[in-house]
Order: sequence, then structure tokens, then C-alpha cells
Amino acid sequence: MNWLNRHLTLQIEPTRRCNLNCKICMRRNLNESNIQLSLENFKRVLNSGNFQHVCLHGWGEPLLNSQIFQMIKYAESQGISTELTTNGTLLKENLEKIFGSGLSIIALGIHNREIFLFILPQDLLYLVLQLIIVSLLQLKVKLPPALIFQSFA
Ligand code: SF4
Repeated sequence: MNWLNRHLTLQIEPTRRCNLNCKICMRRNLNESNIQLSLENFKRVLNSGNFQHVCLHGWGEPLLNSQIFQMIKYAESQGISTELTTNGTLLKENLEKIFGSGLSIIALGIHNREIFLFILPQDLLYLVLQLIIVSLLQLKVKLPPALIFQSFA
């Protein structure tokens, strides 16, 4: 049981707000579509278990939570690796914070083909270039986050 406790992953929803309205999304069926997790409550939940990894995602765009990078920094400072899933629309304006936060993994969950094709030549290319540049220059961040893709409709 102790072994299991040391390998727990926390899945937590930073916000239910979103700047998109994908067909597959069930946000529209939820009563509270604007709720947001506070840094204080995030810390409380994170400290309640012996977590090794935390996934920041849910029915909402995590980058719309104004305290998301404080949450990532806090978790990483506790030795808990972090993963964030984003719809990709707010990458460009948050790149510096993404790299500076110590985020371990960033996942693009794009469920709309038009958005995917819009992001692909712009922000995504920019993100990939930044990953390469940061990797080459070995800036102050520990390591650039790994980039993974999730399915899109
Ligand atoms: S980006 Fe995600 S949370 Fe936002 S509407 Fe699409 S599926 Fe829902």
C-alpha cells in the first residue's frame, strides 16, 4: 500500500471556463460553467495525498485560470511533476510563463479541426521553435516541457 501511495496521480480541474465551444464538450450541460480553482484550494488538495504527478485539465481551458502558473510552480517545488492540457489558443501569450514555471508536460487537446489547422502554422510552430531554442541554449528553466498531442475530432 505504501508503494501505491508513492505513485498517486492527482487529476484536478483548474477552471471550467473556456474560450471555445467544441461540439464534443459537455461544458454546456453543466450548471456551473464558470467556476475556478483557487491556489489555496489547489494546495490543500495537493497536500492531502502523497502525489507524484498532477494533471491540470478538465472541462475548461486551464490557461484561463490566473493562478495556474503559481499552482505549477508550487507542485514542482514539492517534487510533484506537472502536466497541463490546453486547447492551444493561448500558448503564444503564455510561452514565457510556461517555460518559466517548470511545467513537465504540455498536452494539446484539440477537439476542433478548424482550430487545429489555425493553430498549427502559428502558435504550434512557434512553440516547437521555442522548445528547440530553449533546449539548445539551456536557459534557466530545468528542462522544456515535453509536448504531446491528444485526439481531435
Ligand atoms: S477546448 Fe476543451 S473545454 Fe473548451 S470547449 Fe473544447 S473540449 Fe470543451
